[in-house]
Amino acid sequence: MTDILERAKTQVLDGGIGLSYDELVEVLQLPEDQIPELLELAHAVRMKHCGPEVEVEGIISLKTGGCPEDCHFCSQSGQFTSPVRSVWLDIPQLVKAAEETAATGATEFCIVAAVRGPDERLMTQVREGIKAIQEAVDINVACSLGMLTQEQVDDLAAMGVHRYNHNLEAAKSYFPQVVTTHSYEERWATCEMVREAGMELCCGGLVGMGESLEQRAELASQLAELDPHEVPLNFLNPRPGTPFGDLPIMSSQDALRTIAAFRLAMPRTILRYAGGRELTLGDLGTRDGLLGGINAVIVGNYLTTLGRDADEDLALLADLKMPIRELAKTL
Ligand code: SF4
Repeated sequence: MTDILERAKTQVLDGGIGLSYDELVEVLQLPEDQIPELLELAHAVRMKHCGPEVEVEGIISLKTGGCPEDCHFCSQSGQFTSPVRSVWLDIPQLVKAAEETAATGATEFCIVAAVRGPDERLMTQVREGIKAIQEAVDINVACSLGMLTQEQVDDLAAMGVHRYNHNLEAAKSYFPQVVTTHSYEERWATCEMVREAGMELCCGGLVGMGESLEQRAELASQLAELDPHEVPLNFLNPRPGTPFGDLPIMSSQDALRTIAAFRLAMPRTILRYAGGRELTLGDLGTRDGLLGGINAVIVGNYLTTLGRDADEDLALLADLKMPIRELAKTL
């Protein structure tokens, strides 16, 4: 075993303490022939510190496209020529999606809107939507509605929102190359308010956006510092018409190194496969990632691109003998 893997074994597997930035850089530089050993270690860390369960979540877009922000990876920005138009869902559609999600065994249903932050109209829709879902379906409701004010954080907590998603998106040093309409600090501030209000924080980012290995390690370290309950890991799916539309697809080897590095940075977090994994990893790589540190998946369609079929994912989990985490029943 190489020096860095030996250290990771003692510190992360045995001690439960995540790797530092410098150590993560070393992990991301491991030669290809050591990737199997790296994944094996990351999997052992996940099994020891999180257990074999996999958390399943469904997401639904309440408002798609027409966002005023300019996140360079996102086809929902109204600033680019990408072909996603602004579309709103109604409450019955929302409840139906929550029911279908619950039927897959998922415990989280996340309502997403492509906005800088919610306005009154969106807050009202979300309030009514959550109430209708809570009356009809036994599932935790999560939201992803952009940057929040303290008042909105308090409102969402009072509505019973279980988890709030707000990604850092990129390392602090790379953020200005990715977004110019808001700052990394604004994102961080929303994340802190969410956690202080008692909601679970879901915060991750994207890799494969032209960042350096060091910046990939930096993102993992900054997420570890923030210590979210869940970290969704996205691999860039270069969308036509966006500023990152011509970037190459990240190699599956780099994607697997990244998954393992994130797990070694955050031994106890829920590490979720989010967008782009089909393109970057394919079926075989998807399996490798689930045996390399990932312990949560999103079923069904992603926001603007088609994800895998829910049945395929559920069959894969059964094949790997990874049980789906059940909804915690309130006593
Ligand atoms: S990532 Fe979110 S905030 Fe950024 S452009 Fe897309 S929808 Fe808007």
